[in-house]
Amino acid sequence: MKKKTFFVTLLLFIIFINSSMLIVSLITLRECVETEREKVLSEHYMISSTLLGDMQAVEKRGGDVRASMESLAGTYLRYSRNRGNELAVACGEEWICCGGDISPAKTPGEILSREAASDRIVFIEKTPVPKLCIYGRFPAPYQDYGLFYSADLGEALQSWRQMKNTLFFVSAAVTLLLALFLIQFLDILFRPLREISVASRVIAGGDYHARLRVRGKDEIAVMADNFNRMAGQVESHIKLLQDTADEKQRFIDNFAHELRTPLTAVYGYAEYIQRASLTEEEKFECTEFILSECRRLQNMAYQLLDMAALREMETEDCPVGELFSRVSEIMQVKAAEKGIALTFEEHREEIAGNPDLLITLLTNLIDNGLKASPSGTAVKIRAEGRGDFLMLEVTDQGIGMTKEQLSRIKEAFYRVDKSRSRGAGGAGLGLAICERIVQLHRGKLEFCSVPGEGTVACVTLPTGKTGESEMQ
Ligand code: ADP
Repeated sequence: MKKKTFFVTLLLFIIFINSSMLIVSLITLRECVETEREKVLSEHYMISSTLLGDMQAVEKRGGDVRASMESLAGTYLRYSRNRGNELAVACGEEWICCGGDISPAKTPGEILSREAASDRIVFIEKTPVPKLCIYGRFPAPYQDYGLFYSADLGEALQSWRQMKNTLFFVSAAVTLLLALFLIQFLDILFRPLREISVASRVIAGGDYHARLRVRGKDEIAVMADNFNRMAGQVESHIKLLQDTADEKQRFIDNFAHELRTPLTAVYGYAEYIQRASLTEEEKFECTEFILSECRRLQNMAYQLLDMAALREMETEDCPVGELFSRVSEIMQVKAAEKGIALTFEEHREEIAGNPDLLITLLTNLIDNGLKASPSGTAVKIRAEGRGDFLMLEVTDQGIGMTKEQLSRIKEAFYRVDKSRSRGAGGAGLGLAICERIVQLHRGKLEFCSVPGEGTVACVTLPTGKTGESEMQ
């Protein structure tokens, strides 16, 4: 593309500059010949009018004009010879006196046959050095006489040739300069395209950080900007795919790990019962352990099924107060057992959502708060409307979490304290389910926690029909 542009531009320029030079040199040539013509014409006029006066004087004196022509024209013959010009006088069909050694190439009759009508005939004789010739007849009664005068065009042509050579030398120099300028200019012009090509190659090679520098506001800058946007989109999509793949891999790793622990324990106890001779009481303890692990596995299976089933939901208008009273019925007993006060802040708002899923969401969050809190503390549940959104907050005064722990709690199977959570029956799936429920409601689940002070779980949900307003 760059080469093509270079050659086409250069070719167009060469055509343009050479034709301009040609036109200029032709005009100059015409002007040169015209000036020379004017000069020769005036000299011819001057000589012929003076000679005519002399001829009349001879006639008056009763002399023979033709016989005295040699002496009459002598001065002019010398004058023209000194100037390198040719002068000849004709009478009838023959030249009666000539300035040079040789008479004009054509006879007066041949010259007159060119343009019989005109008195003065101007023509160029193409001898080795071109000559500008003028032949004019004298007025009556001397119409038989004619004066031929010619001047060498060599000098004028020589200076025109020099000027023409200079012009073509200048055009060659300008063409060379233009070629150098074009190389530089096209290099600058095509630099963004080169950069785009390099950046695309880098991106194609798997490095999605490559970006172009956007300079100015022209079309190239717009293109570079669009390229950067496209690269940004590709990068974020690839990152999303990568994150999803990582998440899936983590899920599989954690799931395999979660299965292995109870299965190993179940297998070990079953083998122990089979091989060792145990008392009834020992057997009961072993089977009790096996059963508790099986319950845990069953729980996990149900939770996973719940999660898998969370793909779509039916929505209805749920009054928040109603949701709170149902959640309170479910959780009050557990809270009382732990000696924790459960408080709900009344609310009259409504929310478009799935009541069963919203109850699961709230009970999970409250359950986590109860598990993390010592007795004598309180877990508060509060709802507050903010424009098109409803904020649900579950605040506890429990052990809290560090930033690092907070960043992972929504991962499936993640537990801050594995042994304690397992003992409490949690598989680390509760918050993964909560996150899924909130996503289905197009909301946002966030946590704020201070170790040793407590945690606030904050759910922001759009209050309109699902899908009408969406979290940014
Ligand atoms: P589980 O079902 O085992 O409770 P979750 O997914 O609900 O798992 O929670 C993941 C982990 O996050 C829990 O094991 C717990 O350590 C931590 N966690 C969740 N909520 C709280 C909270 N309010 N206070 C302290 N830790 C919490």
